[in-house]
Amino acid sequence: MFSLDKFAQAKLAGLDARAQRRALAETASAGGAHVARNGRKLISFCSNDYLGLAAHPVIVEAAAAALRDHGLGAGASRLVTGNHPLYGALEERLAGWKCADAAMVFGSGYLANLGTIPALASEGDVIFIDELAHACLYAGARLSRADAVVFPHNDTGALEGLLAAERKRFRYALIVTEGVFSMDGDLAPLPALADIAAAHDAWLLVDDAHGLGTIAKGRGSAFAFGASPVLIPLQTGTLSKALGAYGGYLAASAPVTELLTSRARSFVYATALPSAVIAGATAALEFIAENPDVTEQPLRNARLFTRTLDLPLAASQIVPIVLRDEKRAMAASAALEDAGFLVTAIRPPTVPDGTARLRFAFSALHEEQDVLALAQAVRSRVLAA
Ligand code: PMP
Repeated sequence: MFSLDKFAQAKLAGLDARAQRRALAETASAGGAHVARNGRKLISFCSNDYLGLAAHPVIVEAAAAALRDHGLGAGASRLVTGNHPLYGALEERLAGWKCADAAMVFGSGYLANLGTIPALASEGDVIFIDELAHACLYAGARLSRADAVVFPHNDTGALEGLLAAERKRFRYALIVTEGVFSMDGDLAPLPALADIAAAHDAWLLVDDAHGLGTIAKGRGSAFAFGASPVLIPLQTGTLSKALGAYGGYLAASAPVTELLTSRARSFVYATALPSAVIAGATAALEFIAENPDVTEQPLRNARLFTRTLDLPLAASQIVPIVLRDEKRAMAASAALEDAGFLVTAIRPPTVPDGTARLRFAFSALHEEQDVLALAQAVRSRVLAA
């Protein structure tokens, strides 16, 4: 056997031993929050299409019209093939929504972070990163070759201490975190982080992939702490979750976005998104601005769930139930699937060792009775097991 296949098989055996092997399960959309899997209809609680906009007729029609007018692929990067006129409207809207001078759209949220961080930090600089930050933030930090200092999750006291001890050895410093944590659903203490960043001449980057469209009437987690938004110079996020489309963004000052237009490698060297995606995302952002009540439904559903089960009150539309052991999380997911609910088990390395869990994502598509039925199934099949 080739050494390559032997290598892969040994690695797979290791994953199997730790119940960490992942496999794709064919799953079709079946309308609303429903999906079809293995010939059965399930209510899904694992989509980040938090507002149901991916299949919303207005958004689909906006994308379909652009698809008919402009075709599918963009042909090359935005710098090489020319910037599609639809980008301007989306970037202007995003900048306004985030109270930033400017915004730039990337191929995905992953690519936005992967391009932004190394364009701003390099050898001789330091990145302070929350221990639970998303894999793409870590990937961006690694790619930058700056020193990385991991701080305990949301621990502003520890971060202060680390900055006081380490900051002066370096030229520039970045603090990197998420607005709404993707696997825990809690919010970062953004006002304190902004103060700490200012006090230590560090640049704060917040990835609000899960906050756009769902927190503070859809404006995101920076707007959740009072009448005016927390000032965050580097706001990244995705068009792929609550906007129901695809792509990522950075909202920042004009000099920063202009610099990144030349220096963010994932922007410069990757093909532009299909214009249909840009049209759909623009329509979705308009929808969110015009329907603040819809943006509140995911959190309302999450809180109905946590209240019903006497869990800590949900801070966002994401609710974890940590079961620790991978096998237990897999069994709990299977038990819920038997009961008609799709709730994927989340295992290391997506989450730290010993914290395998069920992650429930609530959406505006869920009806009250769906949430209550889920809670009932969780009570009898997961918490009592
Ligand atoms: N950041 C966070 C916090 C995420 O949860 C995700 C998606 N899992 C991403 C970035 C990546 O975004 P995208 O899926 O648009 O690449």
